[in-house]
Order: sequence, then C-alpha cells, then structure tokens
Amino acid sequence: MEPYDELLARLRRIHAIDSVSGLLGWDEQVNLPPGAAALRGEQHAVLADLSHAECCAPRLGELIGILEAGSAGLEPDAAVVVRQIRREYDRATRLPAEFVREKAAQSSRGYHAWAAARAAGDFAAYAPVLEKNLELARREAGYLGFGSAPYDAMLDLHDPGMTAAAVERLFAELRRELVPFVREIAASPVRPKAGALRGFPVAGQRAFLREVTERLGFDYRRGRIDVSLHPFCSGGGDDVRMTTRFNEDEPLDSLFSSIHETGHGLYEQGLPGAHPGTALAIHAGMAVHESQSRLWENQVARGRGFWRFFEPRFRELFPAQTAAVTSDELYLAVNAVAPTPIRVDADEVTYNLHIILRFEIERRLFAGTLAVADLPAAWNELSRELLGIDPKDDREGVLQDVHWSGGAFGYFPSYTLGNMIAAQLWHRVRLLRPGLEGDFARGDFTWLLGWLRENIHAQGRRLDALTLVRQVTGEELSPRPLMRYLRERYGSLYL
Ligand SMILES: [Zn+2]
Repeated sequence: MEPYDELLARLRRIHAIDSVSGLLGWDEQVNLPPGAAALRGEQHAVLADLSHAECCAPRLGELIGILEAGSAGLEPDAAVVVRQIRREYDRATRLPAEFVREKAAQSSRGYHAWAAARAAGDFAAYAPVLEKNLELARREAGYLGFGSAPYDAMLDLHDPGMTAAAVERLFAELRRELVPFVREIAASPVRPKAGALRGFPVAGQRAFLREVTERLGFDYRRGRIDVSLHPFCSGGGDDVRMTTRFNEDEPLDSLFSSIHETGHGLYEQGLPGAHPGTALAIHAGMAVHESQSRLWENQVARGRGFWRFFEPRFRELFPAQTAAVTSDELYLAVNAVAPTPIRVDADEVTYNLHIILRFEIERRLFAGTLAVADLPAAWNELSRELLGIDPKDDREGVLQDVHWSGGAFGYFPSYTLGNMIAAQLWHRVRLLRPGLEGDFARGDFTWLLGWLRENIHAQGRRLDALTLVRQVTGEELSPRPLMRYLRERYGSLYL
C-alpha cells in the first residue's frame, strides 16, 4: 500500500473508534439507565485506550515522517492531511501516559467536586480543584511546547492557531462598544411581555421544530433529534445526533436551542465525507463551528423574514396559546434582551459580555496576576463593570459553569469569536444577495445553505478560523459587523 493510502486507512480506523465513543456519549445523555453508568465508564475507558494507542502508533509516526520527507510531491489536499495529523500525533505522543491518566482522573473528580460545591454555594470547596486543574494545564502547555504562553496552548486546543493577543484585541474593541449599548437597552421602556407564551404542549412543539429544522435543510435521513437535559449536537457525516429539551411554558427555548444545534448539525452534514478523520473532513475549530450554530439561531431565525414565513404555522399549531399575542409581541419575545447573571440564560446581545468576563479571568489566572482565592471577588467586580449586575452569591457567579471543573480552559472565547464570525458572514451574504430576507419569507433557505456549504463546510480544516474568515469575507475578523448587526436588530426594537 502507498504510504498516503496507508495513512488514510489508519485515520479512518481512528475515526471509527472515536465515533463509537461519541455514540456512547450521546446514548449516555439520551437513553442510559442510571444503573449502567459504571459499565459505561468502563466502555469509555477501553475505547479511549484503543484510540490513544492508534494515535500514538509508531507506524503512524513513520508514515508521517515518510510523507513529510517527500512533501514536495504531495497534492495540496494530501499536504493538508499530513500537516494536521502531524499536529495530532505530536499532541498524542508528547503527553506522558501517566499525565493523561492523571488528567482524566482529575477531570472526573473535578466535575463531582464542582457539582457539590455549586449545590452548596461553597467556593472554598472548589478552589483546590481549580488550583490542580491550572497546574495540569500549565504542565500540558509545557509538554506541547507552549511553556512560555500556557493560555495560548489552551486556546489552540479548541481553535488551532488562536492566541490570547488576538482574542484580547478583538474583545477589547467589542467591549468598548457593547457595554454602553447594553446599558442603553437595559434602560429602555420597551419590555417583552413576561409569560406571554404559556402552555404549549410538547407534541406540538416537537412537530413545529421538526418542520423548522427540516426546512432549514437538516437531513433527517442522516441524523436525528432526541431529548436530553442539556441540548447538544454530536456525531457527524451521515450520523448526526442532535438533542433538545421541552418546557411547556418556554416554547422559544426549545425552538431556538434546536435551531442552534441544527446549525452545528448542518455544518457536520456538509463536511466532505470522502476521507473521514482527516483535516479534509473535520470542522475548522470551535469558533467556526459556533459561527454556524449562531448564524442560523440568531441572524436567520430571530429575523423578520423567518417569522413572516413561520408565524402563521406557529399560530395554526397553537391557536389558543397565541390568540392574545400580537405579531409585534411575538417578535419582541423572540428578541428579548435583559442582562442576567447566568450565561446560559443570556440573550445574544449580553451573552458576549459573559464571555469577555470569562476570558479576562482566564487570562489573569494564566498570567499569574489573579490568585484562585481572589476569583469570586474578581468575578463579581467584572460582572458589575460589564453587565451592571451584582451576583447575589457564587452560584450566580463563579460557580455557575462546568467548564473549568474538567480543566477546559480557553473554550469560552470560541463562543464570542463564533458570534463575530457569524455576523461577518451575515454581512457578506447580504451584500451578495440583498433579497435574502425575502427568500426566508418564502420559506426558502437553500441559497444561504448552499453558500455556506461551498464557502465554509466544503473547506473542512484546510484553513484556521482567521484565515478562513479573511478568505471568505475579504476582511480580517473584526467585532464591527457584530456591533452593526446588533445595533440594526436591537436598536430598532428597543431604542
Ligand atoms: Zn453551540
């Protein structure tokens, strides 16, 4: 077998193992009887070992070496595949096995300690977990060659090539404009009617979101949607698994979280399938992934065109529940803005301030200018500065997120980077197709999906996020399109 074909076969095998792990993870959150949790843990561990062994296989290293030595003769796509797998291989082989085991055990311990600390509102009980996770993160950065810039190592894990300096520059500019804009909206006399949408039977909600997500382009022959406590999207290619949740008095929560996951699902269904497990077939990082979910959730589904098409059907399915709600009230409910201390409850305007807060904290922790013991005070001060909110306790503050308990530092920024990318793509597609909202008003989302397929999905991981954005929009990533979009949509409703 030619070395490149042998490499592809190995990557396909690793991908198959990892996709079984993913399926077990999905099953764990959707179907698993509680009594089977321990068995599932063992199953996960066996598969993780198997995958790790394949990723570190000396033969894989040899193949990479052979292909790199002859790289001048490689096709451009093959060169992309080799470059990406070199990165993965180095990552897998540079971390000592003992360190990987220690980190996995700490992540599981950390999760349980966090859950208990959050329930009790007891930050002191959580602090040692954070200390330990930070120490592990610094060690990991050292192994990966980021010893002098450990936070960059964390960002690079989720978004290849992303640096703290790049994020800092983008977020500082966003912060300057967004903080006063949020204050203006918070002071507006315009308020969505609280509790206007109540008593929506789950069966009807399910039918509506199925129609919506199918119309947006999700292919249910290659994916499905189920129910879990926290919505997510996993799998990929021909087997995309999305989840949602239902609350009879929050029909928009279920709808918008489903559309969000559909954005992730459309991206996964649109990735080229020919060479599974290679850079040609995987997403371009979490920021780009999040841009796809946010674009459909926010720019598309909170817009006038979308509701012009779907509002009649919404009323037809729920005549009694919507009888007293005017079109304007419905549209305002869809675009409700109100600062809240809790990130996962935040609207799309204030959400970014929650992320800027977390980025600022992470940056200081890794720079050594903030001690873990001082975290709650720093959190609350930033919350006042950014959101104008005093968390009433640590449950509303520093204890609210799961991420750090498992050592996931550097993940938060991808949410707001995703919002920026979505807005910049949105600006671009509206220039290219001024009648886009008109398409949506007729229930036609095919042009937009086709454009994303060609320009974003088909690219796989050939380019990092910043390069991809530059190539597709002709401009450097900037917070300006996001601010322009937010002012257009929310300025006209609230100011
Ligand atoms: Zn998402």
